Amino acid sequence: MFESKKYAPSEEFVRNSNLTKDQYEEMYKKSISDPEGFWGEQAERLTWFKKWDKVLEHDFANAKVEWFKGGKLNVAYNCLDRHLQTPAKNKAAIIWVGDKPGETRTYTYQQLHREVSLHANVLKRFGIKRGDRVLIYLPMIPELAIFALACTRIGAVHSVVFGGFSPESLQSRIDDAKPSLIVTSDAGFRGGRIIDMKKNIDEALQRSEHKVQHVIVAERVGNETYTVWNEGRDHHLRDILNSPDLSDECPPEEMDAEDPLFILYTSGSTGKPKGVLHTTGGYLLGANMTFNYVFDHKPDDTFWCTADIGWVTGHSYILYGPLSNGATSLMFEGVPSYPDAGRFWQICDKFGVTVFYTAPTAIRALMREGVKWVEKHRLNTLRLLGSVGEPINPEAWEWYYHNVGKGRCPVVDTWWQTETGSIMISPLPGAIDAKPGSATKPFFGIEPVIVDNDGKELEGAASGNLCIKQPWPSMMRGVYGDPERFFNTYFVQFKGYYFTGDGANRDEDGYYWITGRVDDVLNVSGHRLGSAEVESALVEHQSVAEAAVVGYPHDIKGQGIYAYVTVKNGVHTNDELKKELLELVAEKIGKIARPDVIHWAPGLPKTRSGKIMRRILRKIAEGEFSNLGDISTLADPSVVATLVEDKQKYHS
Ligand code: ATP
Ligand code: MG
Repeated sequence: MFESKKYAPSEEFVRNSNLTKDQYEEMYKKSISDPEGFWGEQAERLTWFKKWDKVLEHDFANAKVEWFKGGKLNVAYNCLDRHLQTPAKNKAAIIWVGDKPGETRTYTYQQLHREVSLHANVLKRFGIKRGDRVLIYLPMIPELAIFALACTRIGAVHSVVFGGFSPESLQSRIDDAKPSLIVTSDAGFRGGRIIDMKKNIDEALQRSEHKVQHVIVAERVGNETYTVWNEGRDHHLRDILNSPDLSDECPPEEMDAEDPLFILYTSGSTGKPKGVLHTTGGYLLGANMTFNYVFDHKPDDTFWCTADIGWVTGHSYILYGPLSNGATSLMFEGVPSYPDAGRFWQICDKFGVTVFYTAPTAIRALMREGVKWVEKHRLNTLRLLGSVGEPINPEAWEWYYHNVGKGRCPVVDTWWQTETGSIMISPLPGAIDAKPGSATKPFFGIEPVIVDNDGKELEGAASGNLCIKQPWPSMMRGVYGDPERFFNTYFVQFKGYYFTGDGANRDEDGYYWITGRVDDVLNVSGHRLGSAEVESALVEHQSVAEAAVVGYPHDIKGQGIYAYVTVKNGVHTNDELKKELLELVAEKIGKIARPDVIHWAPGLPKTRSGKIMRRILRKIAEGEFSNLGDISTLADPSVVATLVEDKQKYHS
C-alpha cells in the first residue's frame, strides 16, 4: 500500500556508527528473550548510589510494573555531577539561542551544575522537598532547564506546562497537579511577540480551586506586563538570588528508582489531557540509551531538538537524554518562521549543528515556503536528521532528506508517545535502512504487535491496532491522581497488552508504518484506511502543502472521505486541481480512497505541539458546529471559524 523505496546509510556513516546491523539484531534478540539480563547490563550506563535488588517485577496485564526496585540514584547527578570528573567538565552542556537573532548564552557542564545547585537551594528556601510538586510555566529560557534539573536534584516532581497554554488550560493542570510552588517569568518572547506569562498564571490562579503558596517570577522581558503582584505569594527570582546566604552547593537527594520524577500532560489531540507520570530510574535509562543509539551520539556533536521542553520530546531529547550522555544540547527560544523562514537553517549553520530533530508540521510549513530558504545557508555539518510527532508523509521525508540532508544524512522517523517516555520504533541510523514514511523497527526491549479488533495477534505482513507486549523501563507508571484511568485507557481494550491508540501496518520486511490514531481510521465500504495513507497521497501533489482527511456519514459507503487541503503559497484552487488530486489518490491507493469532498482550507486546526486535530475536523465535516468540544488547546482557534464558514458556504 505504501511505496517502499529504501535508503541505506552511506558507507562512511556505517563505519562510524555506534551500532552495526548484526549488533542490532543480536542485542534486540537478547533484549526480548532475556529482558532482565539485558536491562540489568544496560542500567550500568547510569551512575547508581546503590544497585537495585531486582531488575523487573511486573503484572503487565494489570498495569503494574517496577524497574530496578531498591536501586538509588539521582537524575541531576547523572546529568551533571558525574561529567565533572571527565573532560566534558568544560564542554557546552546547553547552547541557548534566543528568539531574537544574535542573542545566545552557553552553559558548560560545570556552570550548569552550579546554577542547578543554586536554584535547588532557591526551591528549598520555600520549603520544597522530596515528593512535592513544582509546576513550571516558563518560555524556552535557560531557567526552564535549570529549574527542571533543580527539582530532580532535591527529589521534587516537576510538571512543565508549555508556555503557550492559555489561563484556562493552565488552571485545569494546576487543579490536577496541585503544586506547592509555581515558577514562571514576567513574560516571554516568541516569534517577536510578547507572551504574558505571569498574567496568565494570575488569571489561572484566580479561577483555580487549588491554592498555590508561592510563585517565583524569573525575568525575561523586563517590563512589568503583569497587573497583579500578590505580596507574600509572588517573589522575584532576582531578589532571592541576591540574598547573600544562598549557597550554590546542594547535595543530590538519593532517590528510589521508582520515585516519581515528573508529571506531564499530553498534548490533547484526543480529549481531556492526562497527567502522565514517569519515575526515576527506568525513564532516565530509556532517555539515555535511545539518545545514544537513535541519534548515534558522538562526543563532538551539536545536537538540536527543536521541540519545546513543555512536551515530552523536549524532556527526553533536550534535557535528560543529551545531558545524561554528556552531550551538547541546543535550546531554542523561538519559532521556525521568525524573523524569516530560514531561521532553522541559519541556526544550524551558525552553531555547526550535526544532528537535527524536528516535527513533520515544521517540515511541511518550511516546504511550503520553498527551498530557497534552505539553500541560503551552509548545512555541511549536518550528519543525521530526525522526525517526531506525526506520521511523516513520504513527500515531506524526501524533501527533508534531499534538501536539508543533501542526500547525505540518514533520517530517523521516531515513533513514540508521552506515555512511552522514550523512542519506541525508529531506524538505528547505521543499522537499519530507511523507507520514507515508515518508522521501521523496534528499539531494544520493545515488542510491538499488531492485533485485530478482537485482540488476536496477527503474524507477518498485517494491518491493525498497534500494541506493546512487554513492559519497558521508561513506560509511564500511572495517570497522576487517577490510577483507574491508567488501567482503563491502556490495558482494557486488548487484554494483556499496552494499547497505543495508534493503527499500524507491518510490511514483509517487518517494518512498521504508523497509519494514525485508530479513532481517525476511515471505514469506506468496508475497507479500512488510515488517515495518513490518504493524506500522504494528497501531499504528493506539487501544489499541496498539507492535508487532513476524516470520515463523515455517507448513505451508500457507510463513511465518505472528507479532505481538507491546504495549498502552497501562490497556488490557485480550482476544479482542475481538484480533479488532479482525486486522480492522484486513485492512482496511489485505489479508487476506494478517492475523497468525496475536497475542502480548500487556508489553515488546519492544530494542537500547540503542531498536531492536526482531526476530532474537530470530523465534527465540521458532519456539520455539527455547535458541539466542537474543547478547542482551548488549539494553537490558533480562529482557523475553526473559517472552516465552519466555508463548510456552510460551499459544502452543505
Ligand atoms: P493525546 O494523547 O492527549 O491525544 P498526543 O497523543 O498528541 O495527545 P503525544 O504523546 O505527544 O500526545 O503524541 C503521541 C502520538 O503522536 C502517537 O500516539 C502518534 O499518534 C503520534 N506520533 C508521534 N510520533 C510519530 C511518528 N514518528 N509517526 C507517526 N505518528 C507519530
Ligand atoms: Mg496520545
